[in-house]
Amino acid sequence: MVQQGSRTVLVVAAHADDEALGCGGTIARHVIEGDRVHLVVMADGVHSRLDANPVDLERRMAAAARAQKILGIGEVDYLGLPDNRMDSLALLDIVQSLEPVLQKLAPQVVYTHHHGDLNIDHRITQQAVMTACRPQPGHAVKEIYGFEVMSSTEWASPQSEPFLPSFFVDITAQLETKQRALAAYAEELRPVPHSRSMEHLEALARHRGYSMGLDAAEAFVVYRLIR
Ligand SMILES: [Zn+2]
Repeated sequence: MVQQGSRTVLVVAAHADDEALGCGGTIARHVIEGDRVHLVVMADGVHSRLDANPVDLERRMAAAARAQKILGIGEVDYLGLPDNRMDSLALLDIVQSLEPVLQKLAPQVVYTHHHGDLNIDHRITQQAVMTACRPQPGHAVKEIYGFEVMSSTEWASPQSEPFLPSFFVDITAQLETKQRALAAYAEELRPVPHSRSMEHLEALARHRGYSMGLDAAEAFVVYRLIR
């Protein structure tokens, strides 16, 4: 097992903001513990919107850069796939766009979406990660975890597999950092009682924490854990 403090961690998010929503506290904690955290954003996040224009994209990229700095993320790769239309691409092409990053970084730990999310890009991203991280002999990836993203994971249809976490990260000391990163993405948040509101995101961190006897936590499903 690679020791804490020298690991390379890769977060594969469909859209810029999913990394902060899904595992912002865990990212901040990895950075504090000395791990290197790299982010891949699969889709650009604005093209699917009717009012999309270059100014929106620029603003969103600036917000993403601010959030990533707050969390301590090192490098970011934007793959530029079509937002909310990743199902228009062949899975093989998506996997092949991820593989060079995996080869370059050889991460030991990977975080990505839950496979049952409502959002099509989230589901395809998870599938692409599992395919790109096939455990062939000598493969670096020892751990793969799926995070939850409010207004997608809990909005999934009943026929989707529910998010049933079994891995929890104590983010009591990182909750404030996570909230600052989310504040950088203020344009993606909505007022309560919307599911993707600052209030609900804090309630979720408390719920996941209190469920485990902690003050705040992020929850994950375990897709792979090799020791
Ligand atoms: Zn997303």
